[in-house]
Amino acid sequence: MKRFAGKTVVVTGGNKGIGFAIAERFAEEGANLVIASVEKHVEEAAEALRALGAQIVPEICDVTDRAAVEELYNRAESEFGEVNISIQNAGVITIAKIENLTEAEWDATMDVNTKGVFLCCQEAIRRMRKSGNGGRLISTASGQARDGFIYTPHYAASKFGVVGLTQSLAKEVALDGITVNAICPGIIETEMWDYNDRVWGKMLGDFGPGELMASWVQNIPMKRAGSGKDVAGLVAFLASEDASYITGQTVNVDGGLIMS
Ligand code: NDP
Repeated sequence: MKRFAGKTVVVTGGNKGIGFAIAERFAEEGANLVIASVEKHVEEAAEALRALGAQIVPEICDVTDRAAVEELYNRAESEFGEVNISIQNAGVITIAKIENLTEAEWDATMDVNTKGVFLCCQEAIRRMRKSGNGGRLISTASGQARDGFIYTPHYAASKFGVVGLTQSLAKEVALDGITVNAICPGIIETEMWDYNDRVWGKMLGDFGPGELMASWVQNIPMKRAGSGKDVAGLVAFLASEDASYITGQTVNVDGGLIMS
């Protein structure tokens, strides 16, 4: 069933990892997509998605740059008419002990993970309100928006921020037919997790490659890491008609790792 035929979806961080899996799911279900990332290989990702028969526009867009974000949503409108679904997924992480965590690291993490979500939501809402056709906003938070982990206070703060932003916006745009939700992936196998495995692994003990991930997976009731596809299924549901009465929510997708 092509639930998103004729819909326009913007996905930030859509060139790889979780964002690519989300874009793939929307492409399979008939959407037109604008996918954005900061680096040039976004074009290669777009090419792979076009093979699914979808119309894909790649954009290089740093989500911390207001003008670039405005241009991203302008492009979506000029290519496809209007923006119906906006997925704020771009994110970064670093891991550092508090004495070593720099102000620059703090600012960069908040800029991408929290301000970037704000700028994208603002541009999307402006257009959705103008069109009068409602819309869907879904932002990628993290299990660290529920429970901060060791050595990532800046990342956890940035993701808790996404939850507050989501709840507040959901109240503001509820009567415009726009829903606003956030998702909390747990341990998902992407390049970001490779970094986490390596750096946390060194800081928390003498873990070799893959060993920290393997030990943390044992804490997941389902005893497996997640995939981008696991996350994409939730996002597609929240963007669908079936979720039209769900707003202001933050939903975990983590095999049961966090149950609050
Ligand atoms: P990846 O590192 O694989 O992908 C991150 C994406 O964000 C890339 O597309 C990257 O683009 C993009 N990005 C980074 N900075 C910017 C920026 N300034 N402007 C635009 N795009 C940017 O990570 P994941 O796929 O794992 O992560 C996706 C989201 O999921 C993030 O928000 C992350 O915090 C969250 N998450 C991930 C979890 C995991 O276990 N993997 C768990 C919980 C949450 P480029 O390639 O061009 O740099």
